[in-house]
Amino acid sequence: MMSDCLLKAGKLIIGDGRTLENVSILIQGGSVAEVGPDVKATSDTEVLDYSDRVVMPGIVDPHVHVCFDGSSDPAEVRKFSDELLAIRGALLVEKLLEYGITTAGDAAGRGNVPFAVKEAVERHLVNGPRFLPCGRMITISGGRDPLGGANEADGPDNVRRAVREEIGRGARYIKLAATGAISSEHTESFNTQFDLDELKAAANEARKVHLKSHAHAYGEEGIRNTILAGVDVLVHGHPLSKENIELMKKHNTMYMPTIVTYYESQLHHDDGDLPEYMVRKEKEIFPLIEEGVRNAVKAEIDLVVGTDSGMPYTPYGKSAAEEMELMVRLGGATEMTAIIAGTRNAARSMNIDSKIGTIEPSKSADLIVLALGKDPLQDITVLQDRESISRVILMGKTVIEH
Ligand SMILES: [Zn+2]
Repeated sequence: MMSDCLLKAGKLIIGDGRTLENVSILIQGGSVAEVGPDVKATSDTEVLDYSDRVVMPGIVDPHVHVCFDGSSDPAEVRKFSDELLAIRGALLVEKLLEYGITTAGDAAGRGNVPFAVKEAVERHLVNGPRFLPCGRMITISGGRDPLGGANEADGPDNVRRAVREEIGRGARYIKLAATGAISSEHTESFNTQFDLDELKAAANEARKVHLKSHAHAYGEEGIRNTILAGVDVLVHGHPLSKENIELMKKHNTMYMPTIVTYYESQLHHDDGDLPEYMVRKEKEIFPLIEEGVRNAVKAEIDLVVGTDSGMPYTPYGKSAAEEMELMVRLGGATEMTAIIAGTRNAARSMNIDSKIGTIEPSKSADLIVLALGKDPLQDITVLQDRESISRVILMGKTVIEH
């Protein structure tokens, strides 16, 4: 139930780079009403005393794929009906809350599956996070294996049609394929797909209805087209050159490197379970990631956590926290930068940052209480351990507690 409460925090990570010590958070009607050292509440307000704990915003992961479950061959979803995928997807998103992920975005799925999962969460059939589907991937004809959900379009007018269709189906952001992909067998990662004018048409169409656009892109030209088109979020973006980083600064492009999916997958290249074409393409890309991410961090590009959960060896839950660790360990980011990437910036990447991503008055009360002695600013890896998370609150309601 949604009850008002006063939560006392020893240390509050706001999500925008600031921290506060010894403050209280007044939660009313599912939102944060007040934050400060001496917040007053009525005598019947429940008090949660975590004055010896760290409190942070719920994590936001705008890049999961509920049609996939993290097993080694994405093509196995061919054997699943949409109905079965939706049931499996609804179970998968329950794992996200256990790791403090209170908002997730589905970055392309088949048919109505992601929308059905959203509805299952909203009807409380499953205990899942706030869920924002992008609908289907918008791609050139033949640009994607349709098993993952594709809306094919060619030429700017037709791309506008596809974007409008996804908006009409309830998409909460727009996902574009600017280049080929590892998981689409018949494409090569570095080959461009949409032309600049097509990407521009899509980004503009999304902007008209205040939705952010995200584009999957690899290679110099596809990444450059993405930035120049005014796409809001560069997804993957490997290898990221210094020239393209300069362009990103000029165009305010956000960067979602999804390091964790490549990192985890490359650990299994010799197992023999991944399709050969995926191993080959991942081997091309993995060694290129570190330098680009490091340069993006140095250039203070706005990083966004995104996991690609559902892709091979990229499980639901732990992956968002591992992405933050990799931003620090492999990318050279500070722990604070990684936390901002997984809270405020991730919310901004779906244009929901006016309500989500930071713990401030008028924002949704989505927060995590860490276990005693656990502080992600000291050790970002604590978020990968469910036992480090004592309580998860979503819209003012406790959804996980141990
Ligand atoms: Zn993806």
